[in-house]
Amino acid sequence: MTDFTITEDFPRSEIEFDASFSNLDACYQYLFQLKWPDGFVCRKCGHQQYWLSSRNLYICTQCEHQHSLTAGTIMDSSKKPITYWFKAMWWFTTRKSGINATKLKELLGFGSYGTAWTWLQKLRRCTIRKEREKLSGRVEVDEFFISGQRPGKRGRGAEGKTIVAVAVER
Ligand SMILES: [Zn+2]
Repeated sequence: MTDFTITEDFPRSEIEFDASFSNLDACYQYLFQLKWPDGFVCRKCGHQQYWLSSRNLYICTQCEHQHSLTAGTIMDSSKKPITYWFKAMWWFTTRKSGINATKLKELLGFGSYGTAWTWLQKLRRCTIRKEREKLSGRVEVDEFFISGQRPGKRGRGAEGKTIVAVAVER
């Protein structure tokens, strides 16, 4: 797990969220910034130039290693556009009353309840750290924030934000 810094630079409302993540490019740009905050660096050879394939793979121009922005995330190999995932994460993390599969299906316009249910399972699973110590007593999972940790480029909105899960022992 990465350490996250919560600042005041996260979307304060759905309108702000939508302004930052309204299209595929904005979402991929956000993931790019998380993965390569100082620009593309090939994981295999350290080369800094890439070309972008039609399937959104970043391919090193030197060794041709393929990098995916969604590899290792819950969005990996999903057939739905990542804008749907971003929106699902937003609802999942900000709705005070929580969200169930029926509601998620309705909000995202899915044809299938099963898809919404699977998505929720994935979202819930990624709020649990594998190496965590078990919380004890009365445990409450509370707020999740989408936050920013880098200064600058305020106008573009999406950079440097990430998602944080918070659980507390009462
Ligand atoms: Zn390379």
